[in-house]
Amino acid sequence: MSRFMSRRFDGLEAYVPGEQPQDMQYVKLNTNESPFPPSPAVFAALNDSETARLNLYPDPEGRVLRQKLAALYGVDMENVFLANGSDELLNFFFMAFCDQERPVAFPSVSYGFYPVYASLYNLPRAEIPLHEGFRLEPADYCGIRKNIVIANPNAPTGRTVSVAEIEEIVRTNPDHAVLIDEAYIDFGGESCVGLVSKYENLLVGQTFSKFRSLAGGRLGYAIGSRTLIEDLDKIKYSTNSYNINRLTMAAAAAAIDSNDYYVQNSRIIQENRAYTAAGLEELGFETLPSKANFIFTRCPQVEGGRLYRSLKAKGVLVRRWDKPEISDYCRVTIGNREQMDIFLEKVREILKEG
Ligand SMILES: *Cc1c(COP(=O)(O)O)cnc(C)c1O
Repeated sequence: MSRFMSRRFDGLEAYVPGEQPQDMQYVKLNTNESPFPPSPAVFAALNDSETARLNLYPDPEGRVLRQKLAALYGVDMENVFLANGSDELLNFFFMAFCDQERPVAFPSVSYGFYPVYASLYNLPRAEIPLHEGFRLEPADYCGIRKNIVIANPNAPTGRTVSVAEIEEIVRTNPDHAVLIDEAYIDFGGESCVGLVSKYENLLVGQTFSKFRSLAGGRLGYAIGSRTLIEDLDKIKYSTNSYNINRLTMAAAAAAIDSNDYYVQNSRIIQENRAYTAAGLEELGFETLPSKANFIFTRCPQVEGGRLYRSLKAKGVLVRRWDKPEISDYCRVTIGNREQMDIFLEKVREILKEG
């Protein structure tokens, strides 16, 4: 940090994204991207006439896309907020709703960006421990009088909480905003979007980065009460009113029209998830039950750091953290069958090498 930077960032530790090697020499199972390309309709939407309009600013209200998302979820356009990736949605959530009087709570093992945003805004925070087997205990969040962020399915564990449990958390914190981060909801989980009409304090965040094969387009969104969406809008128009670019909006609108394609891809991912977990179980690995496009797994014979490095040396990238409670685990993105076969083959080699 230079002498020019504000002292208020002295204690800030930035988020470290997963490695993004630009030469694709790896089987890349480290950042939960889809192995499938965007749908053909997305390619068609990114056409010359849309490119020719790049001299014009995009619609700051993103009306076409918000209408489509509203129709998809059976809500009004006023219940939809667009963000430049759901990371930006998280940023706006922390900025808009949390302060010294309204601390934020999230699980101690969850998405690594939550503590970063809490630090960025110097927020009092409660990092609530998970229980045996990385299970989230809903009672830990009921009536706590704090804003709450929960990833469901959780990252990096893949575990879920039920809609009924989420409803209890939302219901018992009526004066605080609750964000359920559903980045991985379309791989077998049950969304709580249906609760939005009932609770003014609920925001449900989703993203085009995983299920919809559009990580490079950077688009996230929230479904929530008009009240919360208006608050987020205020922050958006105070930071970057054109936060979604024209090409991404065109691509996303086409992606929504291709829902069947992505649902089919998700089915394949879920099959490959079961296939990979079964293959690992044969090798003695312990894998948490996952409803996401990744699995969280540990090998009793090989320490997590060594497994990560050995896989990387063999051309397979997975994700692993130094944090003590999870340092023995690797998070493995579920790719196509060929990628998972290579992954399993390399794991077998590593076990043989001892
Ligand atoms: C991937 C991920 C995000 C961020 O997604 P983007 O839309 O690409 O910014 C947010 N939350 C969780 C839990 C994630 O895993």
